[in-house]
Amino acid sequence: MRVLILGGTTEASEIARALAGEARFAPVLSLAGRTQAPVEPPIPWRVGGFGGAEGLAAYLRDERISALIDATHPFAARMKANAAQAAALADVPRVAVLRPAWQRQDGDRWTEVADMARAFAALGPERRRVFLAIGRQELAAFGPPHAYLIRSVDRPDPVPPDATVITARGPFTLDAERALLVTHRIEVLVTKNAGGAATMAKLAAARGLGLPVVMVARPAPPEPPVVGDAAGALAWLAHQACQRGV
Ligand code: NAP
Repeated sequence: MRVLILGGTTEASEIARALAGEARFAPVLSLAGRTQAPVEPPIPWRVGGFGGAEGLAAYLRDERISALIDATHPFAARMKANAAQAAALADVPRVAVLRPAWQRQDGDRWTEVADMARAFAALGPERRRVFLAIGRQELAAFGPPHAYLIRSVDRPDPVPPDATVITARGPFTLDAERALLVTHRIEVLVTKNAGGAATMAKLAAARGLGLPVVMVARPAPPEPPVVGDAAGALAWLAHQACQRGV
């Protein structure tokens, strides 16, 4: 059974690892190409956009894909919408993986905002030392008067003014996150509500240090069916295979 996994996430890598040794499935992992040197997947993979929902539908038909697992990031709203539309167009069963959002805990000082422009506004008019843990695609929303620490897998180009860049790939530990916040004398953290364990330690570090967090809320969730993790997607796939007698 040919399975397309839309990836770029921990869950997609987990699904790929699980399917690597499964003779019933012929999986292919798709990456957008945002990361310059992705970790080598254990299954066949391809890189780059499909050309919208219609391009993806054509790919599903041409490659005779019989199940689509959309394991893209919770903030990859365009791809998630395209996946749902393409699956309908090509009449291919699809499931979306959406990990639970992070929830506020006692001691958290979160300001929740709807988008990056509002995240910048929430920093206020006074110059602050800001840890921007949002990747590199939406840095343009941030500017003076603040000083930024930017962490991303690859170096942003251009580097925004008044910014220090560190390149790193998660997961990150609580000790390392606390040390980073202290060393750079961070006063406020900006992050997307990505959810998941790999990048959660920064929230606990901020809580421990009493630092405020500007939390960018998620876009609208994908169309059902939706599962919460890789195991859910694998169970869905096993069910699809059963129905086809694979
Ligand atoms: P997006 O805005 O929803 O998608 C933009 C376009 O990128 C899509 O229309 C599609 O191009 C292409 N694309 C996205 N994911 C793809 C995939 N897995 N395979 C092939 N093409 C893909 O997506 P994004 O937020 O830029 O995210 C891009 C990638 O980074 C995704 O794989 C996502 O899982 C990963 N990622 C995103 C974030 C985040 O915060 N957004 C964080 C971590 C990882 P076409 O229309 O031409 O098909």
